[in-house]
Amino acid sequence: MGSRLEGRHALITGGGTGIGASAAEQLNVEGAMLSLLGRRLDPLKSIAECFGGTAIQCDVTDPERVRAAFDEARAANGPIDLLIVNAGIAESAPFHKMTRESWDRIIGTNLTGAFECARAAIGDLLKSENGRLVFVASVASLRGVPYASHYAASKHGLLGLMRSLAAEYAKTNLTVNAVCPGYVDTPMTDQSVARVSEITGRSEGDARKAITNMNASGRLVDPEAIGNVIAMLCLPLSSDINGAAITIDGGTSA
Ligand code: NDP
Repeated sequence: MGSRLEGRHALITGGGTGIGASAAEQLNVEGAMLSLLGRRLDPLKSIAECFGGTAIQCDVTDPERVRAAFDEARAANGPIDLLIVNAGIAESAPFHKMTRESWDRIIGTNLTGAFECARAAIGDLLKSENGRLVFVASVASLRGVPYASHYAASKHGLLGLMRSLAAEYAKTNLTVNAVCPGYVDTPMTDQSVARVSEITGRSEGDARKAITNMNASGRLVDPEAIGNVIAMLCLPLSSDINGAAITIDGGTSA
């Protein structure tokens, strides 16, 4: 185990599965203490059992709960040095059938939830010797996505938030960055496969192939590759990486 993040407290939203769980693993490898937040306690607890850390139930769409959960994290592991804003959801619908409820769910989780989490930690992050705020955005932050305009709008918004905070805090010890993955091998992609299969009547295998081929590499991104870049952004040596949107998409955005 390394020690480059020894004594640092990393809070990860959506830390029980997929990219969040991989970030937990990689940050643990660097010696960070972990607080893992999400709506379901069970996956958080199993990741906490593997990599150490505190599992805290929290729905990021509930601002009061976010504040209380961040206080619980502080009580367990001290002030927050590294905040990984990863919790997110995806849905799909043609725009003419998109409901206000679906729009509100996506924006409320992916964008307003991110705002609430950043707001709940900003005081700590600015006091930290090497404060780090990393947003898990998407290639959908960089271009339009047919049948997922709400998701793309939420992820574009996340980059606007990231860049503004990076500019606002450029003279402090805090850096603010985003990772922009292509399709990653996680439960979210499994759900997309199931949705495409249900809507189009294609087999799950064919639907997975179609989604996989949306990455230029023709393969899904390994969640560990995303966790690795998140951990790299958190290292003290990364203090001059600020305002970056790093694509990890097998060349899709090339
Ligand atoms: P997962 O579905 O495994 O991860 C999403 C995580 O967010 C879950 O742990 C979930 O836990 C948590 N979450 C969802 N809603 C809430 C909420 N309201 N409050 C708290 N936690 C919540 O998929 P990924 O790991 O792929 O997704 C992680 C991030 O990566 C998301 O922001 C996603 O948009 C982004 N991303 C994913 C890509 C992919 O291809 N998979 C591509 C590009 C970006 P729980 O349900 O227990 O709350």
